[in-house]
Amino acid sequence: MKVVVTGGSGFVGSHLCEALLRRGDTVWCLDNFCTGDPENVARLRANPHFRLVRADVTSTLDIPGPVDVVAHLASPASPPDYHRLPLETLAVGGRGTENALRLAQRRGARFVLASTSEVYGDPEIHPQPEGYWGNVNPVGPRSVYDEAKRYAEAMAMAYRRSLGVDVGIVRIFNTYGPRMRPYDGRVVSTFVRQALAGSPLTVHGDGSQTRSFCYVDDLVRGITAMIDHRGLDGPVNLGNPAERSVRELAELVLTITGSRSGIEYRPLPVDDPTRRRPVITRAREQLGWEPLVPVDVGLRRTAAWFTALARPKPESAPRQPAADPRSLHPQTAEA
Ligand code: NAD
Ligand code: UDP
Repeated sequence: MKVVVTGGSGFVGSHLCEALLRRGDTVWCLDNFCTGDPENVARLRANPHFRLVRADVTSTLDIPGPVDVVAHLASPASPPDYHRLPLETLAVGGRGTENALRLAQRRGARFVLASTSEVYGDPEIHPQPEGYWGNVNPVGPRSVYDEAKRYAEAMAMAYRRSLGVDVGIVRIFNTYGPRMRPYDGRVVSTFVRQALAGSPLTVHGDGSQTRSFCYVDDLVRGITAMIDHRGLDGPVNLGNPAERSVRELAELVLTITGSRSGIEYRPLPVDDPTRRRPVITRAREQLGWEPLVPVDVGLRRTAAWFTALARPKPESAPRQPAADPRSLHPQTAEA
């Protein structure tokens, strides 16, 4: 299959590109690198079935030749990122999603939307099944992300109902793993970085708020299953129901890294959801999917990756500068 992955050089997108190439698909990765890094897909550039294109999907979006699937992952996702890029986040959820849907419509492709557990806001029911409509503050600081994703879901369903586009929506819960940016501000990357550096772990509030953390390889299997399940619209929750408080996560990270860092309490951000846990019955029954990687195992892998990242690179292999990828695939520069 030929799969277009928007946001393909981000954390999740780069793992998805890799998984699709591994099974023999051709992948076109579109990214404007506002929160992603071309380095995430640097290894894939040698693969003749991979194309990396610098593109802002809020502008026009086109790809030559047939397209079988459009996987729309482009969007800032970490709270500090979407607070820094509020208008861009709304634009990519709105115009970006519509451009990606139009591409899918023109080519008769399946469209898969990376939505989020944030559509549930600060949930009043627990755990969260897909039938729950959510509790989002439409004017709060998180709304640029939450409402953009809710709008993206609405648009995807409208394209399905009015134009017959084969859309599938996955609602992703907190996901972690290698290639998270050490300073992206998300809780796992922040705690692991702090623990390895011997700095105090910054717990927001009293740390009693909960999240359910899914390892990236598990998530990518779920997204791939949704890509392959033509005709299934969802939404389908993808997440690991093993729920932990943020304080428990901090303690687990300290144990796994053997760090002597302490814990420092910081104010709880506005509208920070108090709890999050997915009901994954739909994913189990309709996609045959469930997470397999226990949190302690996933955290060990993540910590090992962060440790390797911090190690100085040998003189002979300097880190590639973030080159304009158009120079690598000049034939795709217009896309
Ligand atoms: P990320 O920030 O690492 O990746 C997002 C990618 O999208 C980046 O490479 C960024 O440069 C790109 N992008 C943003 N705006 C763009 C635009 N206008 N044009 C082209 N590219 C653009 O984040 P991630 O964690 O990999 O998230 C990927 C997707 O999954 C996002 O849509 C996010 O909302 C969703 N999601 C992720 C999580 C999670 O825990 N990681 C949870 C819920 C939903
Ligand atoms: N968090 C924290 N310390 C940090 C970063 C985040 O305690 O240094 C908290 C954050 O306030 C939230 C939880 O960890 O309660 C998950 O935060 P993250 O940004 O990873 O995901 P999201 O809030 O989008 O679920």
